[in-house]
Amino acid sequence: MSALVTALRSIVGDEACLSGPEELFVYECDGLTLHSGEPLAVVLPRSRDEVQQVVRSCREHGVAFVPRGAGTGLSGGALADGGVVIECSRMNRIVEVNAADRYAIVEPGVVNADLSKATASVGLFYAPDPSSQQVCTIGGNVAENSGGPHTLKYGTTTDHVLALELVLPSGEVVELGSTAGFAPGFDLVGAVVGSEGTLGIVTQATVKLVPLPERVETLLAIFPDVVAACRCVAEIIESGLVPAALEIMDRRTIAAVEASVYRAGLPTDAGAVLLVELDGPAVVLPDQVARIREIAARASASRVEVAQDDAERQRMWRARKGSFGAMGRLAPDLYVHDAVVPRSALPEVLAAVCAIGDRYGLKLSNVFHAGDGNLHPNISFDRRDADELARVVAAGAEILKVCVDAGGVITGEHGIGSEKRDFMGMVFSDDDLDAMRRLHDAFNPDGLCNPGKVFPTTRFCVESDPKARGYDRVPFDG
Ligand SMILES: Cc1cc2nc3c(=O)[nH]c(=O)nc-3n(C[C@H](O)[C@H](O)[C@H](O)COP(=O)(O)OP(=O)(O)OC[C@H]3O[C@@H](n4cnc5c(N)ncnc54)[C@H](O)[C@@H]3O)c2cc1C
Repeated sequence: MSALVTALRSIVGDEACLSGPEELFVYECDGLTLHSGEPLAVVLPRSRDEVQQVVRSCREHGVAFVPRGAGTGLSGGALADGGVVIECSRMNRIVEVNAADRYAIVEPGVVNADLSKATASVGLFYAPDPSSQQVCTIGGNVAENSGGPHTLKYGTTTDHVLALELVLPSGEVVELGSTAGFAPGFDLVGAVVGSEGTLGIVTQATVKLVPLPERVETLLAIFPDVVAACRCVAEIIESGLVPAALEIMDRRTIAAVEASVYRAGLPTDAGAVLLVELDGPAVVLPDQVARIREIAARASASRVEVAQDDAERQRMWRARKGSFGAMGRLAPDLYVHDAVVPRSALPEVLAAVCAIGDRYGLKLSNVFHAGDGNLHPNISFDRRDADELARVVAAGAEILKVCVDAGGVITGEHGIGSEKRDFMGMVFSDDDLDAMRRLHDAFNPDGLCNPGKVFPTTRFCVESDPKARGYDRVPFDG
């Protein structure tokens, strides 16, 4: 193995190849601390050519390689137990901003928020905005098909990627899609977006830019409980309004935020707050604000605050986007769950999720993209406590079952990774998985690129009634 490390050093340079235990420790996991494993080495290439050489070198030594951005993923997708991590953070150039055709060409290590900062002067922005956008990279966003608060109106990453340059697991470089947004043949860009780094390493992305809205209004509606806030969301959507964002924070989240540096003056006696953002032509927004006020009042909001200026708006968003960080106050570890349900099912599912948390005696809080039905039940815990850890894992599985039974799916934006691979059978049949496996194998036939992700290692026992799913898992060969 030291021969491989020597070869990697000769490609990227000594300072860009990490192999000491204290250096590797940092890369043992991503944002999901439940799963970890020490990589053999970490390389930080500066160019596509270096990525290509690293991939070829790993292949020669038969060692797996795993692309990585900022490591903010929450499903163990960038985990490289015994493999080589290819960290793309140094490939962080914005290669081109084309205002006329509204696109940008970027390297994968560009930080999400930096792209919108760089394009604001030409009146454009990059719409997908994960709450981690101050840190996470476009490469990671592409791999996870990331969403964010503004996904409700603008769509997820897949709606914004025009073209990709990819180093295939073979080491070959391919270009997929086109800057024009139309490419003949199969939609291979669509196949790569959301493939969680298992089909190759993105070395360049061409993404759409969207005009900055003429005006933005941000409102905060205060509710007695989270179920009432969910009902309000369903009514807003039913009314035909399309807000840019509809985000809910529950009581426990509010308490954590207000005790942290992200405090924003949220009412700690509220059961939940709903953050509503409207954007568009200035002339239409006052009417939309009035309609949101009416709907919120009908849904039993005690009051609705409207941000009076940009500073107030930023304050509200700081609370929402800082809420995961604020939970660091509650316990050493945080399990950020991710599932999607039909919006109309939100009130019942939320009630069931909270009941599961209570039954397992866990600190469970909710902060989520309510407009998309994208839940994030967050469990604060201490992984050194084996009993609590077991309860966290069991509660997580039950939460997924409740969501799937309500017509939902097992992830909205954090991906499957290593975390949920064994739950794929909840939503896909063996035939579905086989079809996906064949697509995977067309790009990555020997599985050296990001192994152990997405595909299940165990099989679900399905009860005789195909609609009633059993949740006992058995090994695939068992
Ligand atoms: C506080 C917090 C808030 C979050 N909020 C959101 C949110 O609102 N919406 C959301 O969608 N996610 C959210 N996330 C999850 C995470 O930030 C996203 O999944 C993000 O896209 C990961 O980007 P990254 O650069 O950190 O990627 P990493 O974590 O490094 O990697 C993620 C996956 O992408 C692959 N990958 C990375 N770079 C490349 C590349 N160049 N080519 C191919 N594959 C690659 C990796 O192999 C891995 O499978 C949040 C995370 C945190 C910690």
